[in-house]
Amino acid sequence: MKKNTILTHVGRRPQDHHGVVNPPVYHASTVTFPTVAELEASDATPFEGVRYGRTGTPTTFAFEEAVAALEGGDGAVALPSGLAAIAVSLLAFLKSGDHLLVADNVYFPTRRLCRKYLAEFGIETTYFDPLIGGGVADLVRPETKVVFLESPGSLTFEMMDVPAIAEVARAAGVITAMDNTWSAGLYFKPFDHGVDISIQAATKFIVGHSDAMLGVATTSNALIGKVKATANAFGYAAAPDDCYLGLRGLRSMGPRLARHEETGLRVARWLEARPEVELVLHPALSSCPGHEIWKRDFTGACGLFGVVLRDAPKRAVTAMLDGLELFALGYSWGGFESLIIPTYPAKARTATTWPHSGPSLRLHCGLEDADDLIADLEQGFARFNAAL
Ligand SMILES: *Cc1c(COP(=O)(O)O)cnc(C)c1O
Repeated sequence: MKKNTILTHVGRRPQDHHGVVNPPVYHASTVTFPTVAELEASDATPFEGVRYGRTGTPTTFAFEEAVAALEGGDGAVALPSGLAAIAVSLLAFLKSGDHLLVADNVYFPTRRLCRKYLAEFGIETTYFDPLIGGGVADLVRPETKVVFLESPGSLTFEMMDVPAIAEVARAAGVITAMDNTWSAGLYFKPFDHGVDISIQAATKFIVGHSDAMLGVATTSNALIGKVKATANAFGYAAAPDDCYLGLRGLRSMGPRLARHEETGLRVARWLEARPEVELVLHPALSSCPGHEIWKRDFTGACGLFGVVLRDAPKRAVTAMLDGLELFALGYSWGGFESLIIPTYPAKARTATTWPHSGPSLRLHCGLEDADDLIADLEQGFARFNAAL
């Protein structure tokens, strides 16, 4: 099945629910068993079937089944946020004395988790240049257990040579985990490129409507038991209403992403031609570092990208952003509405230095009409120039 068909059909069985198209939301803590034998038999397979609310309900399993099919993995684990999915995927495979390799362009809370909590647990992290490719081999040590990727980085948008890095990792017995939120699982097939665990902040495109927090880690049969056991041991359980919203979001995600892509590219190309703009950081544009890799490995782009402006005082940037009418100021992305934030990439890296001195922005192009978004930005640049 192609991806849009998977998104439409996987994870629902109307005949099991009176013919109703969508699976119902099961709210559960307690699950009862008819006999002692059946109660105790369920202990033998603690992460299979419906046995206690924390290990999942039929709503959770429907969501996990659909995401696993989308990503191309054997199974998925739903978690209460994208960051929880990252934390559980790392904690499942790391212990005191282990070493972790993390791309320098990683989502900032991932870096904070490694720098503070994993370090306190005795797990050492080395950050590496996202453009390193197979050169990552020089950083692998006997105690390296996981390499963590994010491509493109959700702040600076460099593309990583995922197959080259994953090949080095596999040869060394190191697990490759990747934050695949930007592609939404639609535009990059992690398991075809050597990734072992694909993680998404389902909060973003899967939910798609800015109204629920949800994460998901997809992996192979060989690794999923450890991910499930870790999630359960730490007490993480995705709420059934949020899994329902994730499942509902998946049904329309294909056409939504196509629209985000089209609008994002129109806005990015318009920005590229503006005199105030130094560089547009959009992997589908040939000027973006790693564009050739995007062309080789990805089949599309979402509407999230960055812009580096020519040197300007902060007051010009705030004058531009404060007056925008359609682009709202806010974290997160992937919803139907456009968002913009100022970004400070130089502060969030240690293995590489950010080469640009001008202010930078991150835009999420939503489902509005591209002409209206461009007009909003055009008025923004008028305020920017008036404030110089
Ligand atoms: C938002 C985000 C996350 C975290 O997801 P939450 O659901 O907000 O915890 C992880 N990775 C990336 C790239 C993100 O943008």
